[in-house]
Amino acid sequence: MRPAVFLDRDGTIIHDVGYLRRLDQIDVFPWSIDAIRCLNRAGLPVVVTTNQAGIARGLLTESFLADAHRELSARLQRGGARIDAYYYCPHHPEATLTDYAVACDCRKPRCGMIDRAARELGLDPARSFVVGDGWRDVGMARAAGARSVLVGTGPAADEERTKKPADLDADAIVDNLAAAVSWILTTTSAAI
Ligand SMILES: [Mg+2]
Ligand SMILES: [Zn+2]
Repeated sequence: MRPAVFLDRDGTIIHDVGYLRRLDQIDVFPWSIDAIRCLNRAGLPVVVTTNQAGIARGLLTESFLADAHRELSARLQRGGARIDAYYYCPHHPEATLTDYAVACDCRKPRCGMIDRAARELGLDPARSFVVGDGWRDVGMARAAGARSVLVGTGPAADEERTKKPADLDADAIVDNLAAAVSWILTTTSAAI
């Protein structure tokens, strides 16, 4: 079982635009390609884990989401970076679409997406990392037994930092994904 890096999408790899519903809204941070390439080169699988309640709310479809992830991967690929897998939670307990109105185990801060990726891809959560811009990303990491890195590139960066849940701590709080990857690579190489 291999360690992996689980990346939040919105506010971490790309700008958080609220519900992303058009491909031309995909706006990759300037450092994301190089940061993901570094993970690729280090041999760490890169897995996106993203809450997509917009599906449950009827604002976008699973087929559009698949298109968006193909487009994101194509853009990263042009810079030589690769995302190995995407996992998303389409649910919301108060969804308008009843098919998706469930209290699932995959909506962050729950860790169903990591559990599933671990099973399907042979990953070891205890040796893995989660990078995200919100405390729910940190919560998912803790639920899965992974380490967490909080980045400040989300829409509510200050709020996220001041609204820290009393019982949660990130293993590192850094500016952006580039700094997160640097921290992860330093931490993993120190462990070897
Ligand atoms: Mg986010
Ligand atoms: Zn879910």
